[in-house]
Amino acid sequence: MTVPQIKLNDGNSIPQLGFGVFKVDPDETERIVTDALEVGYRHLDTAMIYGNETGVGNAIKASGIPRDELFITTKLWNSDQGTDSVRDAMDLSLEKLGLESVDLYLIHWPRPDLDRYLDTWLTMEQLKADGKARSIGVSNFHRPHLEKILAGSETVPAVNQIELHPAFAQRDLRAFGAEIGMHTEAWGPLGQGKYDLFGEPAVQAAAEAHGVSPAQVAIRWHLQSGIIVFPKSNSRERMAENFDVFGFELSGEQMASIDAIDRDQRVGANPDEATF
Ligand code: NAD
Repeated sequence: MTVPQIKLNDGNSIPQLGFGVFKVDPDETERIVTDALEVGYRHLDTAMIYGNETGVGNAIKASGIPRDELFITTKLWNSDQGTDSVRDAMDLSLEKLGLESVDLYLIHWPRPDLDRYLDTWLTMEQLKADGKARSIGVSNFHRPHLEKILAGSETVPAVNQIELHPAFAQRDLRAFGAEIGMHTEAWGPLGQGKYDLFGEPAVQAAAEAHGVSPAQVAIRWHLQSGIIVFPKSNSRERMAENFDVFGFELSGEQMASIDAIDRDQRVGANPDEATF
């Protein structure tokens, strides 16, 4: 099973399908990530605030998989935004992960109320120059936040990781990303189970037609839309199911019927208003 690689705007490549560990219990993370690596995932998405970077690092170490075959993302937490603390936060994440560098470091949320994300980004540029983060990007950024970064720095973020699933398809932000050479990553690709995505008639019909599960159809919709995606599951069976998405292809008609589910339905926080 070959996961496609996507070339980022800085020349690095990212596996288009990965494994996310939001809400994975720190005590169980090593076992769960070990399962994910055994299933075949090579791209892991964690964050300082998830509290499970140590478990991710332990699983990586125990796996014996060569470092250059793995793609590891972590994220800078909001309270660490600002020039002084960014470097310390990066060092702490690297220490917990047991790594010399991450493949992708993201500003987790813009927190426009703090107005520190541009300064933070300028320090992220230095972390890239220092080799601590091979690529740098942002998460939960809206167009005005991105425009401020474009105007005030030399680096277009490699990715923007945003809430994205069929009922919240983020067409405008994806189009703007494509315009500036920035890839879009989806978080909550299965809607975090917060609405009945799997019961949507378009998803069910495609699943029946291909003899696959609704979750596999949803992941395939992301992949065929050019989105980078990393569904989360604690169950090894579902991890395997979510990874087994390269043996079928949604038709243009099936893609269009899933596109039509879009109804601007957020399941998470609005980045313009988030103050955590
Ligand atoms: P998700 O959409 O991946 O949903 C996970 C839920 O779907 C889990 O409850 C799981 O039990 C269920 N599920 C998984 N596979 C299934 C299957 N095959 N059949 C039925 N149910 C299944 O939500 P997520 O975990 O929030 O998002 C994925 C990743 O995105 C996270 O783990 C994290 O790495 C990242 N994320 C980032 C942010 C951010 O602010 N940047 C926010 C949330 C999540």
